[in-house]
Amino acid sequence: MHKGNISVQTENIFPIIKKFLYSDQEIFLRELVSNAVDATTKVKTIARAGGVKGELGDTRIEVKLDADAKTLTISDKGIGMTEEEVEKYLNQVAFSSAEEFLEKYKDESIIGHFGLGFYSAFMVADKVEVFTKSYQEDAKAVVWTCEGNPEYTIQDTDKKERGTDIVLHISDDAKEYLDKNRIQSLLDKYCKFLPVEIKFGMKTEYENVEGEDKPKEIEVDNIINNPNPIWKKKPTELSDEDYKNFYNELYPFSQPPLFWIHLNIDYPFNLTGILYFPKLSNNIEMQKNKIQLYSNQVYVTDNVKEIVPEFLTLLHGVIDSPDIPLNVSRSYLQADANVKKITGYITKKVAEKLADLFKEDRKAYEEKWGEIGTFVKYGMITEDKFYDKAEKIALLQSINGDFFTIEEYKEKVKDAQTDKHDRVVFIYTINKDEHHSYINSAKAKGYDILLFDNIIDNHFMQHLESKDQKITFVRVDSETADNLVQKEEKTESVLSEKDQEKIKKIFTESIGDLKGGSIETKALSPEDFPVMITRPEFLRRMQEMQSMQGMDMSMMGDFHNVIVNTNHPLIADKMLKMRSDDKKKEFAEYLHNLAMLNQNMLKGEKLSSFITRSIEFLS
Ligand code: ADP
Repeated sequence: MHKGNISVQTENIFPIIKKFLYSDQEIFLRELVSNAVDATTKVKTIARAGGVKGELGDTRIEVKLDADAKTLTISDKGIGMTEEEVEKYLNQVAFSSAEEFLEKYKDESIIGHFGLGFYSAFMVADKVEVFTKSYQEDAKAVVWTCEGNPEYTIQDTDKKERGTDIVLHISDDAKEYLDKNRIQSLLDKYCKFLPVEIKFGMKTEYENVEGEDKPKEIEVDNIINNPNPIWKKKPTELSDEDYKNFYNELYPFSQPPLFWIHLNIDYPFNLTGILYFPKLSNNIEMQKNKIQLYSNQVYVTDNVKEIVPEFLTLLHGVIDSPDIPLNVSRSYLQADANVKKITGYITKKVAEKLADLFKEDRKAYEEKWGEIGTFVKYGMITEDKFYDKAEKIALLQSINGDFFTIEEYKEKVKDAQTDKHDRVVFIYTINKDEHHSYINSAKAKGYDILLFDNIIDNHFMQHLESKDQKITFVRVDSETADNLVQKEEKTESVLSEKDQEKIKKIFTESIGDLKGGSIETKALSPEDFPVMITRPEFLRRMQEMQSMQGMDMSMMGDFHNVIVNTNHPLIADKMLKMRSDDKKKEFAEYLHNLAMLNQNMLKGEKLSSFITRSIEFLS
């Protein structure tokens, strides 16, 4: 037996390991199991080159729990270590990498807490034993023991099989790791796709036997991982079913994905993975951060903010890349050249996939637009690179249900809907029912109307305007939409100018102060409403923005303009023929209120008294 001291530079890093990483203790299991996987992969490689004498035999990794002895053991049949290697790898390599890790960890959070390695064992164990026997011929087995202080011992032991057993004597404050369910769930989280089979105890399976009512219970090895996940396979070997099944494996009980992209590149960086377009629900926030990041099939994190652009965090699936530096801080990651390339690559792939779908089957693409639209719009708003690619495949939907690209739509409406600044006016509604009468009158004038009812449409449309100065959006009930009418051939006025003046005067006196809003008479079609209310587009947008920021808009809440249609029979005929001035004013007020009602602006006391008056009229 021999004793030694692990390090001369640092007094004692063990308390620091325990304290610093308390919040993320559980990663110790990933670190130790992935060391076991590495050792196994290495011995396989050596065997393939003829470097292992005799049969390689079973190479399964095993995790064993002994609650009575308070131990958790990770066993592999990998390359093992000779006594010299134990000295070198555990006392020097592993120790100095742990030191280095803690040095970085002090200031910033390291992504997925990756890289602490072997010494993470001391977060949960007060004593660690490493029984190991090298694959090399005639190597003698040794056991390294350390009790969470800089002293260690190395002794001979009688281990017969090649490989390494790491025995953790779980400390009293980490008892949860003696619970079978806890370990099972950690293995599920971190080790689910590791490339070497991992056994954790036994499990019961049920088998139907012919002639028996009850299925037979059988005990089988509990293999916790799938060593050949589909993202490592070639797309040509996979069916749609395979992709859907894998999605289900990742997110049990969710709706099937809309479509997916298989990522596979090995130059200038290595990256594999599958990204799924989920069915988006209204709660976008809940669907974020579902992409899992792996490094050589080892789970790292599901927080990939730094690696994929913000809008792509709506996607689900897996990214696996050994080229993402993981033992660095998150802020460093964003500046990393490789990561930038990876981000660009993913954005490009997503845009290409969408373009393919659009080209291959436009009908099917349109049918999915309700779901992918949110995603595409979000991407166009937040990522310029994506905007440039998605501009041609973003769709606008008219209220009839037809879809157009931005270019197509511009072409379609430009003749009828160009304003005096030579901008093509895109007229839209956010709600067909709410704007029913405005839509009807816009339609009657030959205008086309878009349906913009998605939560992000407001931002989207402002973004399109900022990108293309030749487009302007106008809500169907705004004054600008109405002004477009003036370009069209004017309807002949039924009333003389003098009578029109009279009408204006009646309304002005009746309505009183409009707080900056104007009252205008217009010779519209007799089929249009007698009185219409419009609100300036810019003002409404400003209000919408302020209300989103939680500001109080009661100040300018009611601002509006009034347009009186002097060609409507109620105005041109009925009103003018009324004898008493009071009757005229009352009539004007009633029509104004009707128009307010149509805009959903009549509320509270005004609404009640309007209804009371209507009832009086009727009786
Ligand atoms: P890393 O794995 O990042 O090199 P670790 O601290 O996890 O750092 O391990 C240090 C070294 O110890 C490894 O590089 C490896 O040589 C050796 N080692 C650790 N675990 C095992 C094992 N189960 N079998 C063989 N060698 C191991």
